[in-house]
Amino acid sequence: MSWIKKIAFLIVLTGLMGGVFFGFFFHRREARIQKESWFVMGTICTIQVPGPPELRAVIARALARLEECDRKFSIFIPTSPVACFNRSGQAIDDPEVVALIAKACEVSSLTEGAFDITVYPLLELWGFYGENPRRPRREEIELAQKKVGWRNLVITNGQVTKKNAAVQIDLGAIAKGYALDEARKVLLASGVSNALINVGGDIYALGKRNQQPWKIGIRHPRRAGLLGTWEQTGRAVSTSGDYEQFFIQDGVRYHHIIDPRTGYPATNLVSVTVVGEDATLSDAYATALFVLGPEKGRQLLLEAGSKAKVLMVTSSGRIIPFRWPEGRLRP
Ligand code: AMP
Ligand code: MG
Repeated sequence: MSWIKKIAFLIVLTGLMGGVFFGFFFHRREARIQKESWFVMGTICTIQVPGPPELRAVIARALARLEECDRKFSIFIPTSPVACFNRSGQAIDDPEVVALIAKACEVSSLTEGAFDITVYPLLELWGFYGENPRRPRREEIELAQKKVGWRNLVITNGQVTKKNAAVQIDLGAIAKGYALDEARKVLLASGVSNALINVGGDIYALGKRNQQPWKIGIRHPRRAGLLGTWEQTGRAVSTSGDYEQFFIQDGVRYHHIIDPRTGYPATNLVSVTVVGEDATLSDAYATALFVLGPEKGRQLLLEAGSKAKVLMVTSSGRIIPFRWPEGRLRP
């Protein structure tokens, strides 16, 4: 080989190796996931975004938006508009809080009160806001039920007030979904169109991960592991389950989703998963369907014209799909 050919060969070889290295490096950058978890809304919130480390600042902004939602909706933060309303009856005039309460009342109307954010006195009585939940006496339940009823909330002139001073609200069944939608808006506004946002089990699968849909799993309601997994893009996934907060007394499981009509934890189902376009509604519907049970739940979905896909699990372990795509779940 002449020296000119040798040099040409070396130049080509260096170029090829450089290309391979360059491609590998950028592939690695593409495959990398930026992931951050904060403890917000009494739960672990995690946001994952595929891409370079510079995205961490955007993730932090989305997580900060969750914190802002918590400061508005929490019953445990004494300065939140909701806590002030509960404690002293101070009217709520924060437009965001008023709008979420109005949406919750729409769901109450559709579900004839199965979903009701004024369920607070019952949750307090059952001890779910403290460390030692317990089964109350029937008379105590009947007394607390008198303080429950979404029709006691008055929404006028951009304000929420109450007709009855004893009425208190708990947005726990809808606020996580709302916060999830808000975090998604922060990401989208910053040009992030691929992310997995998890707010304590309520998930939004935004776009894709390395050209593939995000892989989602539903927790098995009775044993460790998953009930199933499937691939998802562009949808919210909300699950309500009787395993999230519960205690067992005299061999009976009592949990945190209360049927306001009976004053006792709802007994129809053990888990409900709703896949929808909007996390606020998916979250509210998962809780509402949990209380309504499979038959009334199906009726609600049809009447409301909802396009949501739903998976319900009964206490005997029966899986009831509603518009759930065939073959996407492997229990
Ligand atoms: P989720 O995990 O979304 O199903 O919400 C459960 C939370 O919703 C509970 O911890 C309570 O704060 C609240 N909640 C319980 N029962 C009801 C109900 N019937 N309607 C509305 N909110 C409820
Ligand atoms: Mg919910």
